[in-house]
Amino acid sequence: MTRDSGNKPAAVSAQFDAVVVGAGFSGLYMLYQLRQLGLSAKGFDTAADVGGTWYWNRYPGARCDIPTTDYAYSFDPELEKEWTWSEKYATQPEILDYLRLAADRHGLRSDIEFSTTVTSAHWDEGENRWRITTDRGNEIRCQYYIMASGCLSIPKSAEIEGAGQFAGQVYFTSQWPHEGVDFTGQRVAVIGTGSSGIQSIPLIARQASQLTVFQRTPNFSIPAHNGPAPAERVMQLSEDRDGYRHAARWSRGGIPAELTDVLGVTASEEVRRERFEAAWEQGELFGILGVFADQGVNPASNDIVAGMIREKIRLAVDDPEIAETLCPKDHYFGTKRPCLDTGYFETYNLPHVRLVDLRTQPITSITAQGIDTADQSFEFDAIVYATGFDAMTGALAAVDVTGRGGLSLMEKWTPGPSTYLGLMTVGFPNLFMITGPGSPSVLSNMTVSIEQHVDWVAGCLKDMRAAGFETIEPTALAESGWDVHVQDCAAITLHPTASSWYMGANVPGKPRVFLPYIGGVNAYRQACDDVVSQGYLGFRRTGRGEDECRDGVIRSMQPDVAMVLEIMAGLGLPPMETLSVTDARALMAAAAATRPPGPEVAEVTDGVMPGPGGDLPYRLYRPATADQGPHPIVVYFHGGGWVLGDLDSDDPLCRDLCARSGAVVVSVNYRHAPEARFPAAAQDAFMAVQWVDANAVSLGGIPGQLAVAGWSAGGNMATVVCQLARDAGGPRIAGQLLINPVVESEMMRPSYAENGDGYILTTALMRWFWEHYADPADRGDPRAAPLLGNLTDLPSAIIVTADFDPLRDEGVAYARALDAAGVPVRHVRARGHTHTSVTMVGIVISGAPVRAQMAAALADFFPAPVTGAVSNSSIG
Ligand code: FAD
Ligand code: NAP
Repeated sequence: MTRDSGNKPAAVSAQFDAVVVGAGFSGLYMLYQLRQLGLSAKGFDTAADVGGTWYWNRYPGARCDIPTTDYAYSFDPELEKEWTWSEKYATQPEILDYLRLAADRHGLRSDIEFSTTVTSAHWDEGENRWRITTDRGNEIRCQYYIMASGCLSIPKSAEIEGAGQFAGQVYFTSQWPHEGVDFTGQRVAVIGTGSSGIQSIPLIARQASQLTVFQRTPNFSIPAHNGPAPAERVMQLSEDRDGYRHAARWSRGGIPAELTDVLGVTASEEVRRERFEAAWEQGELFGILGVFADQGVNPASNDIVAGMIREKIRLAVDDPEIAETLCPKDHYFGTKRPCLDTGYFETYNLPHVRLVDLRTQPITSITAQGIDTADQSFEFDAIVYATGFDAMTGALAAVDVTGRGGLSLMEKWTPGPSTYLGLMTVGFPNLFMITGPGSPSVLSNMTVSIEQHVDWVAGCLKDMRAAGFETIEPTALAESGWDVHVQDCAAITLHPTASSWYMGANVPGKPRVFLPYIGGVNAYRQACDDVVSQGYLGFRRTGRGEDECRDGVIRSMQPDVAMVLEIMAGLGLPPMETLSVTDARALMAAAAATRPPGPEVAEVTDGVMPGPGGDLPYRLYRPATADQGPHPIVVYFHGGGWVLGDLDSDDPLCRDLCARSGAVVVSVNYRHAPEARFPAAAQDAFMAVQWVDANAVSLGGIPGQLAVAGWSAGGNMATVVCQLARDAGGPRIAGQLLINPVVESEMMRPSYAENGDGYILTTALMRWFWEHYADPADRGDPRAAPLLGNLTDLPSAIIVTADFDPLRDEGVAYARALDAAGVPVRHVRARGHTHTSVTMVGIVISGAPVRAQMAAALADFFPAPVTGAVSNSSIG
């Protein structure tokens, strides 16, 4: 980046405690905090002044899209008192003035060298220092190298054939001339309809004699309804500034807000409309992104909001054909950053404004006179590129950074950025990133996220120095754990489905990974705080005295599983094992009644079959396949510790299994303890399998294509049946799917201690189940503890184990024992899950891929591949 040049003499071979790259919101506050610590620091910025984003982006209409009452520093109460925002969404000049004032109030400019670009940063392992060079020949040694270089600070190149040939004026919204541009009487082209395009197009249209907008992807935009700063918020701030800022820091997006629990899919039409219109009127991004609790994760809910926005576009634009071209349809609402506008769609009603849809007529070349598309040649006096940024990694990549052993940062990040907390990366000691990839950054009110990062870094440096440490660096385990968590958080949302700059998709050749952390500002802050309170978990610190390494992973539970546990903890329910059996069953039934129903299948019928102690109820699920069947059959046994559960308790899971695998599922309600103790349930299960096998044809099954499945105690019964069937010489069972099964009764394995409390199924509850089901003398019987049985010649098995399950280790032991006995076994690890979460269909989204694996493996049990099963994408 060499956008500004000056003639300042180079300062050579200086030494500072810290070098800070960038003088925007981040760099300025970082410099301030370094001073508070008494450290010497030098700042650099390519720009000729402070401001960062607000220095560069001077295009007409440039404003913030977070209300400025919130998009501001909170660290300096005097600055807050001194400054009054004139509008709800302040303009670029006003925000720049604000940052200038902030810099001046604290005399920060004297620490910054402007018009100077940092070009390289190399870690000197002998000295434990960074060596920094700039384009002006500065050579600096420093202990801490802090990249406050911005997420949206490196413009994307034009990437259009012939871009250099145009003879007229060329402008980039991100590098707008300081003196402004007068388009009066000019024929102007704007390429790009992201936030910058959408803000500038209405104002350019006011001057230009002719404006042609080249649109590749239509964008969702809502009216900003700009005006004075919202009175209610101004009042809240003036009455309790600290309380307001605290609420912002612990909010999801960095602005105090009440989150809704209204689901789009279940709300009435009236409620949907009312909530949408209120958000539309409010004109705030987090409002429209939070109309429904499920719109970011559930396609059907998202479609409701997206559809209503498209209606608004059609109302605003006179020409129906143009309106349709402006309606976004190729991505879910919110998966690309939505825009706030003032009169954007109405601009297309002006006679001198044209829209060119690059999807139907792509640009073939920029020419000396203008732009050629596949269909037409256009002539222009000026072209405006509103084509965006190499977001999140662009500025980090633009510096030649090498760490330990000469490792290049960009080489390390070839598959995509990898960080611990978005703050640091392995191999680069004492290199800090402010709002780096893997932190909430661009998905939040960035000023809140910037202050949090700077505060964390300042606290970290303070702690290091107090303890005599010279370097800090994450461990490989901590970093890979965080990377996985960042992707896990994204995976449960619709975001990864879009070709967005959040995914790196706007820059050709950039790896596609979800770059920011979508788990929320509050959850993220908690993770950072937890790292510190656990003695800098996941970091290695070295220094004069003893080196210290606290290796570990800060978050390994699936985010939606953690959310469910939090909600359940909030309900304050009594531990199940303290209840009577009747009350425990009633609690289970009440919980089951409020769940999502699970996917549709072709047919669900209830029936009874003979059992050893009387009729056994069963429920049959028939899959919706292209053909009418017959299908393979899976006999399923529900969970509930032999005491709880029934046909309803596992209904959504059975539907899911049926829909995904294309098999008929027959769920059997066996006799329960304590009314019928061991071995009643096992006997029922075996007889049920015999009956289903004998009646396969009338049930719509393929004779001989029979598998068993079960969850928890049901998994115990499924595998017991396999042993009994082998010993009895039939029926032939093609495979067994055991989901978090109980396979022994001793409860001594480490997972009982590790996961014994806090994850719904507790060690105490398992004890309660065993007490109700089997006498101690019977608990070593292989029909109760199948791990103790003969494991040879059993059907192929799929064994699912969950990380946060007391039963985890016995499931793993069973998989190993079957393998040792020569039984083909597939072990599916439900990473980050609890005993129950994988089965929570429609609630725990991260369970869906695990169930997809289970179903695929189930289908593999049968000789011919099951075809025609409905697409998994429709299953929650
Ligand atoms: P920046 O402001 O980007 O500053 C980084 C600075 O580092 C730049 O001045 C750059 O010149 C300098 N730099 C980079 N590399 C080098 C180098 N090698 N050597 C020297 N200098 C270097 N966020 C919101 O939360 N709300 C909004 O309303 C909002 N509106 C936005 C509007 C626009 C037009 C844009 C582009 C972004 C907007 N953002 C918004 C995001 C915005 O970038 C952040 O809110 C915030 O301003 C970032 O501050 P920063 O200091 O981290 O980075
Ligand atoms: P952007 O959102 O990435 O939009 C760039 C636009 O240019 C897109 O429409 C893109 O189309 C198009 N484009 C890119 N390359 C193209 C090519 N080669 N040919 C044709 N079209 C091309 O960039 P931005 O508008 O500068 O905004 C970036 C981010 O900065 C925003 O998302 C926001 O976070 C922030 N910002 C905020 C505000 C605000 O309101 N406060 C204003 C500006 C920016 P595709 O979508 O098809 O790639």
